Amino acid sequence: MDQSRAPFKMNCRKCGKLLDGNTSMEKGTRPRHGDVSLCIYCGALSIFDMNKQRLRPPTQWEQAELSKNPDVARALAAITIAKAKQGYKSQK
Ligand SMILES: [Zn+2]
Repeated sequence: MDQSRAPFKMNCRKCGKLLDGNTSMEKGTRPRHGDVSLCIYCGALSIFDMNKQRLRPPTQWEQAELSKNPDVARALAAITIAKAKQGYKSQK
C-alpha cells in the first residue's frame, strides 16, 4: 500500500467528509482517471473523474463489477472492522 495526498480537493459524495489523502492498494501508484475510491468514513464507492476533478458515483455496470471484486470486498470489510473497533474504544 502507498499513501499520497488527494489529487484535488474532494469530499465523499455520500457522507460529505473531506477526503484529503489516498491509500493505494498498489505500491507507487497515485489515483488515475477511472480508479475506484472507497470512503474511509462511510464505505461509499466512487470513481475518480480527473477531467472534472471530482468523485462521481459508479455507473450501474461499474457497481455490478465492483460488487464482484474481492479487493473491494476486503477493503469494505477492513473499514467495517476498523469502525467497529473505534466504536468499542469510545465505549470504554
Ligand atoms: Zn463517505
